[in-house]
Amino acid sequence: MQCAWCSTPESQRSEPEIGFDLSKCVRCGECVHTCPSGALTFDKTPSVRRDLCDGCFACADTCRKRAIKKYGKTLNVKEIVREVSKDEVFYFHSGGGVTLSGGEPCAQTDFAAELLCELKKHGIHTSAETALCVPWENVETLLPYIDCVLADIKHMNSEQHKRWTGIDNSLVLNNIRRLDSSDFPVSLIVRIPLIPGVNDTDENLKAVAALARELTKKLQAIELLPYHRLGLNTYKMLGRPYQLESTAVSLREHIDERANFLRSCDPGVPVYLH
Ligand code: SF4
Ligand code: SF4
Repeated sequence: MQCAWCSTPESQRSEPEIGFDLSKCVRCGECVHTCPSGALTFDKTPSVRRDLCDGCFACADTCRKRAIKKYGKTLNVKEIVREVSKDEVFYFHSGGGVTLSGGEPCAQTDFAAELLCELKKHGIHTSAETALCVPWENVETLLPYIDCVLADIKHMNSEQHKRWTGIDNSLVLNNIRRLDSSDFPVSLIVRIPLIPGVNDTDENLKAVAALARELTKKLQAIELLPYHRLGLNTYKMLGRPYQLESTAVSLREHIDERANFLRSCDPGVPVYLH
């Protein structure tokens, strides 16, 4: 899925990519000459043809002003476990753990399963934030190693879901029902990024409450995530358009009122603001 409000657009591609911080760029043009693929051009500012870029990142190494940023890096399971183990003592004292997020952890199922398995061997609590928009087999592969699933629901109306994310919600809703009725000992939290004018309507929240009442085995809570625009600069750096340019962030009063409305629909579980 590619949600219009995604705050981490750098996680939508499966390979690392470059972005330009033009506020740092002094327009020297040096990066263009180091590109072995002819992917960089210069017309007042540098820009990249991503279809030609082979991800060598010579340009990022060349730029003395650090105006070219590399988004993403490749790590193996051992390297990640070594990194997160540095905080093991904090997980122990705070009751915290590791949450795979993204992006979409289920898009790298085998890797995520191997990583989660290793984390469990270290006794670390594991969660995965997922849109569940993958075949059930992918979800099933991960569930033995997950303590808590944070399942995002973007919209209960399938057409609206498709309009705002690029894909309908049938797979998402089937998977969430299947997960709830499964025998895997996981807890489930439903998360809703509350986007003004998109999914914060009475109708959508009533449908969320109705779904929540169906999820009788594992659902612990519903969390509402206020809309924010923290990813806006990343869109600019990646040269991608942001669809919700004119949408203002929600006022706290609005989110409180929407949470109270959802509670009044009696979803059967607590409703929290994130
Ligand atoms: S090398 Fe850096 S400062 Fe020079 S044009 Fe390229 S991005 Fe801008
Ligand atoms: S990453 Fe490599 S191929 Fe891509 S634009 Fe930079 S120098 Fe060119």
